[in-house]
Amino acid sequence: MKVTVLGAGVVGPAQAWFLRQAGHDVTVIDRQPTTGLGTSFANGGHISVSHAEPWANPSAPLKVLKWLARSDAPLRFRLRADWHQWRWYQQFLRECTPARTRRNIIQIVNLGLYSHATLKA
Ligand SMILES: Cc1cc2nc3c(=O)[nH]c(=O)nc-3n(C[C@H](O)[C@H](O)[C@H](O)COP(=O)(O)OP(=O)(O)OC[C@H]3O[C@@H](n4cnc5c(N)ncnc54)[C@H](O)[C@@H]3O)c2cc1C
Repeated sequence: MKVTVLGAGVVGPAQAWFLRQAGHDVTVIDRQPTTGLGTSFANGGHISVSHAEPWANPSAPLKVLKWLARSDAPLRFRLRADWHQWRWYQQFLRECTPARTRRNIIQIVNLGLYSHATLKA
């Protein structure tokens, strides 16, 4: 099958590699002149497969309210009259309940174990 992957950060080429391994004809396209110029350009390079706490957790809503006033907040929320943004906030808050946080931690742990095994392989 001919497959086009949009985006040449860390995720796009990884997807392309697995698709190629599976025998597909893959093309990676990016709006930048070369690879890795988006978010992947200057991340910390930290492989943290054991970091399983989601940003959305029961303590997040209060923290976010405090961060609104800080320009150096680790997670910045710039409030705008954009319903996509408000819908995102609503979804974020829904994930902050103890039950959703527990469910999400289990999923992140499973994803981390899979990522670790895949990275080693
Ligand atoms: C400051 C910082 C530090 C971080 N540190 C770590 C860390 O230590 N460890 C860790 O695991 N993660 C870290 N992260 C997170 C990690 O960098 C990102 O999760 C990861 O780089 C995302 O990769 P990506 O391929 O999904 O996105 P990107 O690298 O952003 O790639 C997306 C690509 O798609 C292209 N694109 C977008 N729209 C279009 C379009 N319409 N047409 C064509 N091309 C398009 C962009 O140009 C870009 O090249 C960090 C992030 C930041 C911001």
